[in-house]
Amino acid sequence: MQNILTIDLEEWFHANYHDDVFDPQKTYEVRILQNTERLLTLFDEYKAKATFFVLGHVAEQHPQLIRDIAASGHEIASHGYAHQLIYQQTPAVFKEDVSQAKKRVEDIIGKQVKGYRAPSWSITSKSLWAWEVLQDLGFLYDASVFPIETYLYGLPSAPRFSYHPESGGRTLDLLEVPSSTVRVLNKNIPFAGGFYFRALPYPLIAQCIKTVNKEGHPAIVYLHPREIDPRQPRLTLSMKESLIHYYGINGCENKLIRTLKKFEFTSIEGYYRL
Ligand SMILES: [Zn+2]
Repeated sequence: MQNILTIDLEEWFHANYHDDVFDPQKTYEVRILQNTERLLTLFDEYKAKATFFVLGHVAEQHPQLIRDIAASGHEIASHGYAHQLIYQQTPAVFKEDVSQAKKRVEDIIGKQVKGYRAPSWSITSKSLWAWEVLQDLGFLYDASVFPIETYLYGLPSAPRFSYHPESGGRTLDLLEVPSSTVRVLNKNIPFAGGFYFRALPYPLIAQCIKTVNKEGHPAIVYLHPREIDPRQPRLTLSMKESLIHYYGINGCENKLIRTLKKFEFTSIEGYYRL
């Protein structure tokens, strides 16, 4: 059974914990080139294909990197331009940010961008209007919903598997591809990416992927290039934020390799034949 691998292509400093985590005017050390090249090598080695949700800011700085990812057979999708939370934007500002980001990436790869993922899963009950904007901009799918509840994001009432969301009384053509969870004691429990992937032991992650597959669905794994980079510079964060951002970073690459060895992965475009 095929599973889905997704990478949010952003730098080590693109985080949304508080307003001044990073200053877009400042220059920071570039880590994304070496980290992404390492990911591409691993994906090649284990014959995995992925969807890369590219941040417009990164595409602007490193157009050749985006071309290299596309040339390796991976799907290029959009992660917006400036990594701002959707629910802190107006629909007009959001539309402008995403339309800019989409166009920039399409100009680089010379191909239509079909998918979008929000910074920090920020399609929540406060920003459900975003789906209609995405459909208007020509996206075929969105992968921004996490059907759990956290202090930063989550849409706990959302379906666990892909669906067509409703907006303004009609069902949209846009396909929503939510992040994977397993059901434990009537609750959706995340396991497949980011902090959860870094924090949970590999055998448990593998078990969760198998559980989702037994339900007849692909598991959707997500990671950031910074998560295989223990030597990245550290951001000034609170203890809680620091735990979320860095916990388990030393063992993450090895866990990814074990996952790639055991399971077959493709992109969202590949899986749904979009
Ligand atoms: Zn992101």
